[in-house]
Amino acid sequence: MTIYWERCGVCGRSLVTLQCTVNKDTEVCPHCCTSCYIRDRCSSPAWYPSSIKVVVKRREAVKVFSDLMNLLEEKKAVE
Ligand SMILES: [Zn+2]
Repeated sequence: MTIYWERCGVCGRSLVTLQCTVNKDTEVCPHCCTSCYIRDRCSSPAWYPSSIKVVVKRREAVKVFSDLMNLLEEKKAVE
């Protein structure tokens, strides 16, 4: 299985990132977004409790898909 990491456009660390709502071409990690100096003036910060739910749902979808692939590979091995 291949895991793809995204690079934060602010700190450069490889973490889960979301598109910054102020600079649309910047991917931002939750650490940089929550410590952003204009967060109190930002109309809709990328990282909010609701955006974390989206990432969790995405992770669940990846898990369901990998479980499905494992089942298919097991079935292939039996045949
Ligand atoms: Zn960052």
